Amino acid sequence: MSTVSPDVAGNAVAPVDAIVIGAGFAGLYMVHKLTQMGLSVKAFETGADVGGTWYWNQYPGARTDSEASFYAFSFSPELDEEWDWQERFPTQPEVRRYLGHVADRFELREHFTFNTRVDSATYDETDHLWRISTSDDEQHVARFVISGVGLLSAPIWPEFEGLENFQGRWVHTARWPSEKVDLAGKRVAVIGTGSSGVQIIPEIVDTVSELIVFQRTPNYVIPARHQDFGDDDRAEIRGQLDQIRELNRTTPFAFPYPMTGRKALDFSEDERNAIYEEVWQRGGLRFMMETFDDIGFDLEANATASEFIRGKIREIVRDPETAELLCPTYPFTVKRPPTCVGFYEAFNRDHLQLIDVRKTPITSITATGVRTSAEHFEADVIILATGFDVGTGAITRIDIRGKDGLSITDKWKDGPRTFLGLAVNGFPNYFMIGGPHYAAGNFPTVIEEAANWISKVIDHAQQHSYQEIEASEEAEQSWMKHVEEVTAMTFFPKYAREANSYNYGANVEGKPAAVIPYYGGANLYFDRCDAEIADGFTSFTMK
Ligand code: NAP
Repeated sequence: MSTVSPDVAGNAVAPVDAIVIGAGFAGLYMVHKLTQMGLSVKAFETGADVGGTWYWNQYPGARTDSEASFYAFSFSPELDEEWDWQERFPTQPEVRRYLGHVADRFELREHFTFNTRVDSATYDETDHLWRISTSDDEQHVARFVISGVGLLSAPIWPEFEGLENFQGRWVHTARWPSEKVDLAGKRVAVIGTGSSGVQIIPEIVDTVSELIVFQRTPNYVIPARHQDFGDDDRAEIRGQLDQIRELNRTTPFAFPYPMTGRKALDFSEDERNAIYEEVWQRGGLRFMMETFDDIGFDLEANATASEFIRGKIREIVRDPETAELLCPTYPFTVKRPPTCVGFYEAFNRDHLQLIDVRKTPITSITATGVRTSAEHFEADVIILATGFDVGTGAITRIDIRGKDGLSITDKWKDGPRTFLGLAVNGFPNYFMIGGPHYAAGNFPTVIEEAANWISKVIDHAQQHSYQEIEASEEAEQSWMKHVEEVTAMTFFPKYAREANSYNYGANVEGKPAAVIPYYGGANLYFDRCDAEIADGFTSFTMK
């Protein structure tokens, strides 16, 4: 694209074909796809380097809870051959190194401007171009904008009164500083017991002098079973890659765990518990998928899994009162379960205290610690493991305006509306990877599928010289109806509020109660996306 277009200040700016936002798994692969197609691409990343989630979340203990064999790109056999994973559940530095290697290997860095935030994106209906402002006060113009900003990337900064007066150090897990945060011998308060809090607690418990854990909603924490990889393990994985990828594409959560064909209530209690125990010992998220097929939607079946895990908590945690506080009452899977080694065991340490902030809420942060409605806890360091405004937060924190100046925040004021989680009516030439209504599942697989699909729709537009391509209102309505029907079959409408589930917007005050991921099955979702391609993108209007 070579014509020159004025920016908002009237200066001449040469448009590019596409602007990509974000340098995580999504942004990197999208840039690779588009440049392979011969398109001119600019990409922006707030961080100083590639990595996305794996750039920012460098807190102690951060690692994947998906296994290395499938938490990786699948598009390049050469990449498969040359990258040697070190651990079954790779640590944050390892995943970050991997993404750095991908960026170098496919010469992607040159397309990115780092340390630069996209502040706004405005669609100009007269010339069908997006006008982008970035934090370095530059203006850019592009035909297409692809958001790869991540669904777990807009941190929640709780508004604790007095935080600014805290004399010690406070940090958020999702903005952990590069320099060492000294925790040795310190009194440390951890607020939040989601995956981040759950990972950091056992990692630091031996280092600190006192650990005070503030829990609002308990989680069902599954053991991860870490394992260092040797050459034999790597060779075994390489031998299984074709099968793993086939399963990723054909199973409901894009994980290489096939359906079991088992229903929980078809087994006696002893038989059922033996199956739970066997999968529990193998560790990781497979507990959701390799035990029984019906625990995600049949409440009675689910109760057997929930009770099995509560039994484990009561077995591991010696103090019965603490054990009960750690036992969730909502059904397993309403919150995404964290995986970890040594989380429940940490609560047997004398210098760890668990505080239930549902009973005694945090009322303020003082100069020297955390005050609840019941008492004051002295702390040298406060760790906010308070999570994210999931799915929509990273998108709405950019001022995105489509046709008629409509902002995406206004469009989504009653909950997100999308077509296939990839496009939005009223926002032509704008696509999302990992936005709301993406298929719930293994991220790298879902991301690759989304980026492949987006590159096809852009190619279609290019081939036909369409300047504008927009998901139609009818297509969006029909997709949303389907999303709502699927959601009605899940536990979310009834239990999301009790569980504060971010998958239903319930962890952010004032956020509309609406499902974030699509739960109709990643395999069926991928088929639906393929059908759209086969039909020639009939759900879009083209100009
Ligand atoms: P999260 O699951 O949303 O957990 C945030 C925690 O902070 C929750 O316990 C929440 O309580 C608590 N919280 C928030 N505001 C609070 C307040 N004002 N007072 C007290 N407690 C408060 O976030 P996360 O732990 O960062 O994990 C988010 C997701 O990121 C995970 O589910 C996972 O998908 C991904 N992740 C993955 C890994 C991994 O293992 N690979 C590691 C980290 C994150 P409520 O539950 O009551 O809201």
